[in-house]
Amino acid sequence: MIVDYPDPILLRECEEIDPLSKICRKIVESLRVDMHAYRRKGIGLSAPQIGLSFRIFVMDNKFLGVKGSSAFINPKITWVSQETEWEDEGCLSFPAAFIVSVARPVSIEISAFDTRGRRFEEKMSGLAARCFQHEQDHLNGINLWNYASDKRKALFAKDLEKTV
Ligand SMILES: [Zn+2]
Repeated sequence: MIVDYPDPILLRECEEIDPLSKICRKIVESLRVDMHAYRRKGIGLSAPQIGLSFRIFVMDNKFLGVKGSSAFINPKITWVSQETEWEDEGCLSFPAAFIVSVARPVSIEISAFDTRGRRFEEKMSGLAARCFQHEQDHLNGINLWNYASDKRKALFAKDLEKTV
């Protein structure tokens, strides 16, 4: 089950987790399944979006041109490029029509732990960097809502009225 905005779990900062713990392994498994099984397929999914306030997310490996997904545990962004770019983003915790244009650094360097408890570093750019930053935001209680214009927010409120 994916948690919809504005559930309080999406608004708070998540806690770090022991990458070798059983709960961590379970969360990663759930994220991998839910990311692909959901009615709308995502390219990333974070633990708070399935109701668990821990610093974990997964990203689809299509960025690397291979099948499957990668897990990022206790991830950190260690460097961002000066260059930024605007791009439309959606989120599984919002209605499909809630698309927001967000300016983000084009390239980033990150560090995280994998499911074997090993720390790794990566450089990302383009869609992968954007996805990572979007998921990292979730771990800090930041959502697309924070980036939306007043006009976008008003439209969202109208959409909600319609569905109630
Ligand atoms: Zn999201």
